[in-house]
Amino acid sequence: MRPQIPPRSECDAVIVGGGPAGLAAAIAARMRGLKVVVADAARIPVHKACGEGLMPDGVQALRQLGVVLGAGEFRPFVGIRFVDGGVSAQGRFASAAGAGVRRAVLHRRLVRRAAEVGVEIHWGCPVKSFSGGCLRIGDRTLRPRWLVGADGLHSRVRRWAGLERGWSAQPRIGTRIHYRVEPWTDLVEVHWRQHCQAYVTPVAADEICVALMTNRDAPERIEDLSALFPTLAARLRGAQPSDSVRGAASLTRKLRAVASGRVVLIGDAAGSVDAITGQGLSMALRQALVLGEALARGDLAPYAAAHRRITRTPRMMARMLLILDGRPHLRHAALRALAARPALFSRLLAAHVGAINPPVMIRDLAGLTARTLVMGAAARVACL
Ligand SMILES: Cc1cc2nc3c(=O)[nH]c(=O)nc-3n(C[C@H](O)[C@H](O)[C@H](O)COP(=O)(O)OP(=O)(O)OC[C@H]3O[C@@H](n4cnc5c(N)ncnc54)[C@H](O)[C@@H]3O)c2cc1C
Repeated sequence: MRPQIPPRSECDAVIVGGGPAGLAAAIAARMRGLKVVVADAARIPVHKACGEGLMPDGVQALRQLGVVLGAGEFRPFVGIRFVDGGVSAQGRFASAAGAGVRRAVLHRRLVRRAAEVGVEIHWGCPVKSFSGGCLRIGDRTLRPRWLVGADGLHSRVRRWAGLERGWSAQPRIGTRIHYRVEPWTDLVEVHWRQHCQAYVTPVAADEICVALMTNRDAPERIEDLSALFPTLAARLRGAQPSDSVRGAASLTRKLRAVASGRVVLIGDAAGSVDAITGQGLSMALRQALVLGEALARGDLAPYAAAHRRITRTPRMMARMLLILDGRPHLRHAALRALAARPALFSRLLAAHVGAINPPVMIRDLAGLTARTLVMGAAARVACL
């Protein structure tokens, strides 16, 4: 009997991974006229542990992709508050607000928009091999012009393309849970303690998301939230969890390149920043807009350059914030310095979300570092 030859189907781009990055890239490419197929190993609805805070630049990118969040599906937030023991500092976004949005809601909206523009999506369809420019999706073999790896932190596409590189920082563990409670603030709160932070994001009029980030070697448990963060526990007294705990790793990973030949990476597959930045989603959505255009033009160089630009500031911020993670004296001094100068905090926030350029941020960071060191030294002297 002759072997059955699988049908071949041509398309412009196959995107492996239908998370936020993959769907956004698919929408952007399709909006530029490309024929796009997405394959994801998971089945919908896809749930993922996340702090669920979309920064203003991410909200804007989402709008450019034509994704509309309905009223009641998200909760705007206007800045960030850091809390450590008795010290609290807050900065506000310059103009546009961020959006707290449940991950499943965001995903549903992205899927709907992808269908609207004509993206072909296959759920429950893991992509296991790529050879000779072909890959198998369901019962079809596709030979796309472009292969896009949007398959997350542990990307196979990255490995196939030879773009794999090690971690650049210790992995951390994240867990999240939702509570049915009216948000007490229009800010995202980051509660700090040694090697551990709890992020609180309002996601609806009657719900918040709490994400706990800890070291892999000595992970704290979200079940112990009350003991870890008494100030937060006081806010949550009487509030009921509205779903079960979900966990994920957060890795800092930088690659040599985000593209090789006709293979290109996006989102966490293309290098990730620690969740402490709250920038993973926004970076992916902004990258998608540029990637769509690059694929349509057949030139990935502008995408690689834009990718570097988009990730530079969040990487720098992640490094700074993770320095504070394990140094209580420095952290307290930094928070006191920020509390004394809320305008500085707001400017740093503006730089973080790409609203002002890096030189201004570097000047502000230098000012903050000097102030932090002076306050830290004064605190140590007072302790002697
Ligand atoms: C605890 C925690 C809190 C966070 N908080 C925030 C926050 O508040 N704000 C923010 O902006 N970011 C946050 N992030 C980061 C954010 O979640 C990620 O940056 C984002 O999920 C990246 O999206 P992605 O599409 O690249 O990857 P993913 O969301 O991981 O999606 C990858 C998809 O690829 C699929 N896939 C994998 N392998 C295959 C395969 N072989 N074949 C087919 N499909 C495959 C998976 O099923 C998955 O659906 C947080 C992360 C963590 C861990």
